[in-house]
Formats: sequence, C-alpha cells, structure tokens
Amino acid sequence: MSERLQKVMAHAGVASRRKAEKLIVEGHVKVNGKVVKELGTKVTESDEVEVDEVPISKEVPVYYLLYKPRGVITAVTDDKHRKTVIDLLSEVTERIYPVGRLDYDTSGLLLLTNDGDLDNHLTHPKYEVDKTYVAKVKGTITNDDMKRLRTGIHIDGRKTASAKATVIRNNNNSTIVSLTIHEGRNHQVKKMFLALGHPVEKLSRQSYGFLNLDGLQPGDYRRLKPHEVEELK
Ligand code: URA
Repeated sequence: MSERLQKVMAHAGVASRRKAEKLIVEGHVKVNGKVVKELGTKVTESDEVEVDEVPISKEVPVYYLLYKPRGVITAVTDDKHRKTVIDLLSEVTERIYPVGRLDYDTSGLLLLTNDGDLDNHLTHPKYEVDKTYVAKVKGTITNDDMKRLRTGIHIDGRKTASAKATVIRNNNNSTIVSLTIHEGRNHQVKKMFLALGHPVEKLSRQSYGFLNLDGLQPGDYRRLKPHEVEELK
C-alpha cells in the first residue's frame, strides 16, 4: 500500500505531519537515495526513506495511557535529572513521547505514542478533545466565578472558549471544581482560576475525550485498545 511521504514520516515518529512537510520542502528527505521535495510523493514499505541521511525506522505505532503521578515531568528527557513520564513506562521499547503535557505538580491522564500523526491531530486546535480536570482551589467559588469559567476568561490577552464547570464540594477555605475544556493552552486551568483570584492548590486530569482513569492508580499505565485508537483518530 502506498502512502504519502509526510504520513509515513509522522508514523515513524520523525515529526508531526506538519513538521514532516517542512522537512520535505526544505530538502531534508531522500527516497531511495534521491532528494524529494514534492508533498504529493507516495511511498511504499519497500521504499527507503531517509531524513538528513538517517533512515527512518519502520516502528509500528503504539499508544499508551498513563496515570501520571505528581512530581514527574512531562518530557522525554530532563536536564535537571528529574523523573520523566518516559521513565515510568520502563518496559516500552518504542521511542514514545507525550501527547501534550501535564505540569510537574499535576496528576492524571496522559497519552503517549510514537505516532506523530495522531499527536498532531489531537493537539491541533481544530480537533481539540474535551479534557476534564478536577481542581482544588483556594477560597470559595461564587456563582459569578462559575459563570465566568463557563463563558470565558481573559488569559494571556485572549478569552478562553466556553467550558463546563461544576462545584463538587465547598470546604472551609477551598473549593473542589470539575472543569471541562477543549483548548490546550499553556497552564490553562491554573491561569483561569488565578484570574478569578482562586489559585489552584491541586490539579488532576480525570478524562481525555472518552478515555478515563478507571482501574488505574498513579504510576500505572496500559496500552490503548485498537478500538480506542480508532476512536481517537
Ligand atoms: N492546565 C494547567 O494549568 N496545568 C496542567 O497541567 C493542565 C492543564
């Protein structure tokens, strides 16, 4: 079966499809020893694809769901030698990387894959999936705060998209809130609550689209089932 070059590169974990296109156009990619700059180029299993003279691996795509604990960095390597999410998936031999990120002190559902194509799809603003967070925030959240969470809050000079928000519990001087957003802006949940004057004390991502953490403890991970992968695509 022949497939577009950029798709094959993304599947091999070289880069997202968009970045692969850039590599092609800029002349970094060779097929069977010849530089190819046309984006329409199709290749088959038997074609030898190289990026900057390095053959791409024909690794099969793999997909994992991790219950990330707090105190682990969402990166492949860390120059400060902190534990990374990749260290937690020690038995995985493929070169996987996280889809999006959770902060060091945030726990919850994180996907990891070597499929650059899926990564690109899931993190593209056009396709952003619903993500549900449970946040423990300082102070008592008012009805007006809830309305603002739902309708949008200005952070970094731009209003957030509409969101779902419900109060789970009001404690003495903190509130537990469930917030579902479909954007993936940097530190978005913390910034939204901070803008309301309620700093986040604890944050956890409970679900990502139709996927949740059922049956998993912090630090546990599992492979996605084939039908789950299909549904994400
Ligand atoms: N929003 C945040 O502020 N932090 C996360 O880790 C995820 C979403």
